[in-house]
Amino acid sequence: MDLNYSAEELAFRDQVRAWLEKNLPADLRDKVANYEHLSREDLLRWHRILAKQGWVAPSWPKEWGGTDWNIVQRYIFEEELGYAGTPPLIPFGLTMCGSVLLRFGTDAQKKRFLPRIYNGDDFWCQGYSEPGSGSDLASLKTKAVRSGDHYVVNGQKIWTTLGHYADWIFCLVRTDPTVEKRQEGISFLLMDMKAPGITVRPLILMDGAHEVNEVFFDDVEVPVENLVHEEGKGWTVAKYLLGHERMNTGRVGQSKRELAKLKEFAASRMGDPRFRDKLSRLEVELIALEITNLRFLDQMRRSGQPPGADVSMLKIKGTEIQQMLTELMLQAADPADSGEIAASLGPRYCSMRKTTIYAGSNEIQRNIIAKMTLGL
Ligand SMILES: Cc1cc2nc3c(=O)[nH]c(=O)nc-3n(C[C@H](O)[C@H](O)[C@H](O)COP(=O)(O)OP(=O)(O)OC[C@H]3O[C@@H](n4cnc5c(N)ncnc54)[C@H](O)[C@@H]3O)c2cc1C
Repeated sequence: MDLNYSAEELAFRDQVRAWLEKNLPADLRDKVANYEHLSREDLLRWHRILAKQGWVAPSWPKEWGGTDWNIVQRYIFEEELGYAGTPPLIPFGLTMCGSVLLRFGTDAQKKRFLPRIYNGDDFWCQGYSEPGSGSDLASLKTKAVRSGDHYVVNGQKIWTTLGHYADWIFCLVRTDPTVEKRQEGISFLLMDMKAPGITVRPLILMDGAHEVNEVFFDDVEVPVENLVHEEGKGWTVAKYLLGHERMNTGRVGQSKRELAKLKEFAASRMGDPRFRDKLSRLEVELIALEITNLRFLDQMRRSGQPPGADVSMLKIKGTEIQQMLTELMLQAADPADSGEIAASLGPRYCSMRKTTIYAGSNEIQRNIIAKMTLGL
């Protein structure tokens, strides 16, 4: 097993790093560094800068704008984005809907949606979860009834991240409530957020931010051409999407940046052995996470196969580390400090609680490892 980058990979990393240094606008860099709110325009501005450079969708096929980078280069790129502190690339269009359309979309769907996703013309959101259907997603109830050349959709989604920014939503809906196996009655629909009958209502999270929403569907008409894959095969699409690109859930680059910041911020606490111990433990955990990540990469490089279920470890450990970083930041804060970073720590601490819930809660990730890897 070789966990070191080759000379070419290091050269690639330096090239990406230098480009980011030059092209990440200072105001966006500052907003991310100070944990400030990023508007739809901020997110799309950064998306479009990367699109212009040809780097916004590295994993897509070359004909649709992909970079042809190998798996290690893609990983290095993601980590460098995190390390540089760029605004996030919102995954709903690029990594989720885009990947689904590349795999299951018709030619017409690909031509219609992919260039707009690539160029940042359309902002997408994800309509999976419903009240009572989160971890147990297959129990979802939002229904779509076929009527001529369209479906009529009624129901509700919840926790829809950035639904208030979105032009489009991809949804799991129930098209057949009569099937015995509930997964078989589900379909995958693309909906225009401007369609009559869609209402978006904000949900304010514990950090006070408006990031997620409830989305209501009241007799919304969706053209049949917006069905992805076959009717009743939405679960296959959903599974493909959930399993896609799980390699970057560890967010090592981002956590390394936060760790460096923590060390600087907590310089005056380093004389406290209890604090120093916690910090050292966190650093060791982060190094272990990075090595685990590199181990998965090495396996994938050798086998050419996607990672197995144990890649869920990256989500569990990565998010626990992200939470621990905010905990130590908070512990290191001087109550008298009124600087921007100190002021943002409370909301940031609260905000990071979500990481162990979304994208498949960490309990569910543990179940996956127990079942698929340990055979329990
Ligand atoms: C900030 C945020 C953003 C989100 N964004 C989106 C989005 O954009 N689109 C979208 O569709 N969804 C989104 N979600 C929803 C997210 O996917 C769900 O919250 C998550 O799947 C958990 O579902 P739930 O909230 O219904 O909790 P539940 O499924 O009710 O779970 C409650 C608790 O029980 C545990 N639990 C449940 N089942 C088991 C089990 N079998 N074994 C062990 N423990 C179990 C869970 O881990 C959790 O701790 C978001 C959530 C958050 C917090």
